[in-house]
Amino acid sequence: MLNRKDLEDMGYFEMFYDKCEEDPLMFYSTFVENKIITKGSDRLYENVLGLVGEAGEVAEKIKKRIRDYDRFSDEDMIKELGDVLFYTVALANLFKGSLRHVIEQNIRKLDSRQKRGKLQGSGDNR
Ligand SMILES: [Mg+2]
Repeated sequence: MLNRKDLEDMGYFEMFYDKCEEDPLMFYSTFVENKIITKGSDRLYENVLGLVGEAGEVAEKIKKRIRDYDRFSDEDMIKELGDVLFYTVALANLFKGSLRHVIEQNIRKLDSRQKRGKLQGSGDNR
């Protein structure tokens, strides 16, 4: 997990000190927020389309691997997943959440499903 030393090593700790001190993950939420260009009501659409587009880029890499035996490095995939994360956090910020909140909610949901034997199946609230 991202910690103070990681942020110091990347040169971001001082820039986001007030946010990082209480929650190092807030660094990334703040970092993303400072990169958002589209303002107002268009932001929602831009962020959703960005998330879908970047998820599509992940899928495209896998498709080309299957269809064309195309090769990509692990790092190429990590970069695309970073783009997905960026838009995930942008949307979390928009909905008054944070990266930590997204992670915690997801852990609780999946742990609960696992304990109840509901990892398989469908439905948001199973
Ligand atoms: Mg991308």
